[in-house]
Amino acid sequence: MTVADSNAPTERVNLLGLPKADLESFVGDLGSKPFRARQLMNWLYKRGESDIASMTDLAKDFRAQLATRAEVSLPEIVKTQVASDGTRKWLLSGGNGQAFETVFIPEEDRGTLCISSQVGCVLDCSFCSTAQQGFNRNLTTAEIVGQVWLANKELGWQVGDNRIITNIVLMGMGEPLANFRNVIPAIRIFLDDLGFDISRRRVTLSTSGLVPQIYKLAEEVNCALAVSLHAPNDALRSELVPINRKHNIAELLEACWHYLDEQNGRSVTFEYVMLDGVNDQPEHARELARLLRDKPAKLNLIPFNPFPGTAYKRSSPETIVRFRDELNERGIIATIRKTRGEDIDAACGQLAGQVTDRTIVRLGSKTFGLQVRV
Ligand code: SAH
Repeated sequence: MTVADSNAPTERVNLLGLPKADLESFVGDLGSKPFRARQLMNWLYKRGESDIASMTDLAKDFRAQLATRAEVSLPEIVKTQVASDGTRKWLLSGGNGQAFETVFIPEEDRGTLCISSQVGCVLDCSFCSTAQQGFNRNLTTAEIVGQVWLANKELGWQVGDNRIITNIVLMGMGEPLANFRNVIPAIRIFLDDLGFDISRRRVTLSTSGLVPQIYKLAEEVNCALAVSLHAPNDALRSELVPINRKHNIAELLEACWHYLDEQNGRSVTFEYVMLDGVNDQPEHARELARLLRDKPAKLNLIPFNPFPGTAYKRSSPETIVRFRDELNERGIIATIRKTRGEDIDAACGQLAGQVTDRTIVRLGSKTFGLQVRV
């Protein structure tokens, strides 16, 4: 070590995204009591304060100490777009030319924030725009939590107001279970009553089906689970969602039921993108009904959202309704997801962000080599 190195300032800790236990040990290292961590969480998440100097009930010397050792660092907003239906999309900078997207979907009885977990995605689902741009990196916990923090600010939420964001869905860019180590602490902060304090049924993680990570998830947090099924049999699913070549439908469903057992959950939501002439025929609906009959499952039919360069087309509204009816008639609860924010490319599967310096470009037939670090 050189003299210059030993004099280098210690890197500041980003307080945003530190779960309670980590925040407690951080303030402990500074010689403070654990209740300081609760106070900090209160300022960060309950009051939406990012300026340490303004956290007025913290002792002055503690604030001074924090000013040198800690910071509250948020992703920078590159662009904001508002759709004709009120859906909002933010493009956030991940540094080094990378960017990722967050979408707010207002509805009469709730406000849903759709957040990203990675810059790009490695899974290469054939109908997804994010897949086209390859994968660059995992988002940090601070960047995941920061999306909720920023959206609250941007939406004008203030202390004492009713919630504007009532639901959080990890359905933006990326595969959340492929970024397990950063996503789990973020979910803890969403659920924690000292954090955003959102109920476990209103935080939904959507996965393409990383089976081992579903088992791990069951041990770690209790949130709602959505699974991208998209096909009623392995041959078709392997074509649309290549991870199926590694973990097939039977394995995936077993993991889902295990998750519900462990978490005392009511049902898993299965997402099913409606692709014209590909997976939308009555026989597909009947096969799907056989697969999920008497199971704690709900189907969410998503009209395909096109993006430049795709060969897929959206199923017609009549086809989608018929598909839903085929399922309902067989006792399967199925709903059609309303398409939102289409005019600003904010709908499911249209999030693109910006990925330069791709470390892994496309997964495609290389699925068997997929390494997912946990
Ligand atoms: N990687 C996760 C979450 C991200 S995508 C997952 O696969 O579940 C959220 C949902 O949008 C998934 O069900 C995904 O399959 C779906 N989706 C992707 N591209 C789409 C498109 N072009 N049109 C409609 N839905 C799409």
